[in-house]
Amino acid sequence: MSSNLIDGKEISTSIKNNLKLEIDEIKNNFSRSPHLVVVLVGSNPASLSYVKAKEKACKLVGINCHVERLEETVSEENLITYIEKLNQDDQVDGMIVQLPLPKNLDKEKIIQKISPYKDVDGLNNENLGLLASGDPRFVPATPLGVQRMINEIGIKTEGLKIVIIGRSKLVGIPLALLLSSKSDQGNSTVTICHSKSKDIKSNTLDSDIIIVATGFPHTLTKDMVRKNSVVIDVGVNRIEDNSKKNGFRLIGDSDFHEIKEIASKITPVPGGVGPMTIAMLLENVTKAFHININKRL
Ligand code: NAP
Repeated sequence: MSSNLIDGKEISTSIKNNLKLEIDEIKNNFSRSPHLVVVLVGSNPASLSYVKAKEKACKLVGINCHVERLEETVSEENLITYIEKLNQDDQVDGMIVQLPLPKNLDKEKIIQKISPYKDVDGLNNENLGLLASGDPRFVPATPLGVQRMINEIGIKTEGLKIVIIGRSKLVGIPLALLLSSKSDQGNSTVTICHSKSKDIKSNTLDSDIIIVATGFPHTLTKDMVRKNSVVIDVGVNRIEDNSKKNGFRLIGDSDFHEIKEIASKITPVPGGVGPMTIAMLLENVTKAFHININKRL
């Protein structure tokens, strides 16, 4: 890769290799692997491909991943009953309800039914509260991956100015909490921008690190980036491309090709934050295994 690209694939491969060793040891000591259940409702094509990637990564490190596919028409009551069954099952360490859910299902209500001890996506309010109070249990994988990536490329965040564009519960908010936390990998001054923010450019031009997570291409343009800042692009957008076999290609939320000429470091899409997210999910599942085992010792 060109020298200022942050290679999320390479960083995540080394994390997965270490994790595989840890899981081999778990298998020797406990005669079973960490067990993840992914609940997939319907057949959204993007969800299908994300779930496939998760299954593949689990297999690689030795995590037992079961995908439970439910009909698009499943009722909220039946889905919640199934989640509660998994909550009670001692052999299940972690669980994910793949998002988005069909519109007739109340996403927030359903997510909050997942036991906070099995919530490897870190979306349960109890886990968000623990993160906010400085005692995290499960943190969503994407913010964890961004923080780890910044650390792995040797950037010390202490005292730096970081702007995050996007304030979702999945990305922006937990990431702001992580990067401003009193910790070696935190201690930065974080500004959060969102769709109602005025003059985002003045914030990005004043920042050492710019993280963009809006879900809209071209949110971050070249004129918003000062020379030598670091740009982390979380966005994943499908753009029609007839030259590709599947008819689309993925791009981020930033104008990558122009910005890479001025940023000191930048993540590509794909191959940047995506692989880190998967690696952090695998770490969360392994953590869930230890929590589950320790509960019963
Ligand atoms: P989301 O829930 O839709 O949140 C988007 C956030 O961006 C909101 O806070 C919104 O502001 C803000 N926003 C939208 N347009 C904006 C604009 N023009 N200027 C400033 N702020 C703007 O999305 P998400 O779940 O956080 O995901 C964001 C992106 O990251 C998506 O492309 C998603 O696919 C991607 N993603 C990637 C990974 C990965 O592993 N690579 C993982 C998760 C998500 P308001 O709050 O005011 O609406």
